[in-house]
Amino acid sequence: MNKACTYCGSDVHAHEPVFVDEEQRGERTTIGQFCNYACLAQHIENNELETGACCQLDRS
Ligand SMILES: [Zn+2]
Repeated sequence: MNKACTYCGSDVHAHEPVFVDEEQRGERTTIGQFCNYACLAQHIENNELETGACCQLDRS
């Protein structure tokens, strides 16, 4: 199994790993693994994954 951090490439199990799953065609699929939330946050920022993505954006 691949243990490399999606962001920095380090062995995630050397830290406190965080995993990201997405539902794809009804199945839960791991699409990212990170050393910790810092690597996850950097990955999100670099890929602009959060732009306009808040599920509560349309609420008034
Ligand atoms: Zn990392």
